[in-house]
Amino acid sequence: MSDIFLYNSLTKKKEKFEPINTLRVGMYTCGFTVYDYAHIGSCRKYVMDDLLKRVLVYNGYSVTHVQNVTDVGHLVSDANEGEDKMEKGARKYGKDPYEIARFFENYFYESMDKLNIIRPDIICRATEHITEQIQLIQKLIDKGFAYDTPEAVYFEADKFDKYGELFGQRLTDKKTARDNVIKGKYQKSPYDFVLWVKRIGIHKDHIMHWDSPWGDGFPGWHIECSAMSMKYLGEQFDIHTGGEDHLSVHHPNEIAQSEAATGKSPFVKYWVHHAFLMVNGQKMSKSLGNLFTIDDVVNKGFEPLALRYLYLTAHYRDPLNFTWGSLSSAQNALSNLRSQVFAAYSQNQRTVLSFEKDAKREDFARRFRDAINDDLAIPRALAVLWTVLKSNIPSEDKYDLTCEFDQVLGLGLSEIRAGIREEIPDEILELLKQRDKLRKSGNFSEADKIRQEIEIKGYIVNDAKEGSLVRKK
Ligand SMILES: [Zn+2]
Repeated sequence: MSDIFLYNSLTKKKEKFEPINTLRVGMYTCGFTVYDYAHIGSCRKYVMDDLLKRVLVYNGYSVTHVQNVTDVGHLVSDANEGEDKMEKGARKYGKDPYEIARFFENYFYESMDKLNIIRPDIICRATEHITEQIQLIQKLIDKGFAYDTPEAVYFEADKFDKYGELFGQRLTDKKTARDNVIKGKYQKSPYDFVLWVKRIGIHKDHIMHWDSPWGDGFPGWHIECSAMSMKYLGEQFDIHTGGEDHLSVHHPNEIAQSEAATGKSPFVKYWVHHAFLMVNGQKMSKSLGNLFTIDDVVNKGFEPLALRYLYLTAHYRDPLNFTWGSLSSAQNALSNLRSQVFAAYSQNQRTVLSFEKDAKREDFARRFRDAINDDLAIPRALAVLWTVLKSNIPSEDKYDLTCEFDQVLGLGLSEIRAGIREEIPDEILELLKQRDKLRKSGNFSEADKIRQEIEIKGYIVNDAKEGSLVRKK
């Protein structure tokens, strides 16, 4: 097995990946807060997680991937303030919070499917793990890491020596940083955070609520990730991912809760954080009107997989700037890629490889693996695929390598062959072949007649240098 190197936010360096158990990797991803439509910024994050998982599988690991659904308790500010996003979302859409939670959860996973993201093995909702969260909070109180007040149960960050290690800030600095933050009346320090919110004050009409040893209320956002990740992956596991926005509050809080409760460190061995997506050089925000969804992408005539292709062109730790122009280039690149793969498949020239070509083939495979195992250098891996398709190795070998690489890239390239066999009738493929011959001999007017014939039969022809691609209208 080759070595994989990953940048670990905890140690702030690229490290050799060595899972706790030799072949089974536990991976937890902070999921989506289902109070509104998932936008292309969130989509990028989850495509990056998908790539990480695929790279691990490509290297022979089996991965247990757990992802939560935040359907309660995520307050408007990631710290302790404001009302619950779910309740706010429910008011905005004039619906029950449970109703919008399920609606936006469906929308989220449908968007993920369109981007060819492999679904997590376990999808867990916060509202369905209230007991686990209550038990964890009780443990923290029993161990002296949490305190009950008339408004909420708080985690006392002062009691946890390593608080803030993840983002390289000492607690004393953090105190200064958060001094100006409005805090709860009974909160001892600004960096303490809520574990259980009581149904009083601005939360008195909170629709989602449960009984607890500390009264009627609902769990805070951070505790759900500790409770559910440890339930499904154990008290210590391999990889935890999330957006870079979680580096300063959510993830340090998860570490504090989990390690304080179990007394085991580290809670997670490798922390992986994804950079933001920018739109037209600006941060995505509602006020700028640049929160696009997968539907917006489709309505503008692009395929969701073109968006995936665009994501693959930037490293996960680098910001990516989205513009409609960049998506259009990605769409063209993807179409071109498909044409080349199709040509490689249809030329079907399996030959005995010369020593030189065999060595070349091996070299491409090695370069691809080196790229993906070097902290997921996907843009470099994508460049290797293009080099393969432009090389002089036999078409069938090009096609085989493409299918192998696509296990990681997830662009659906290996389905081209299946698609041809299942959907395109022989009659159409025969016409396509005749037309390609005519085009190659320069007989464009005859070739055009065949194109019309194909189109009348309900198919569209796309031309590329290497050959043509046909698909259903
Ligand atoms: Zn989380």
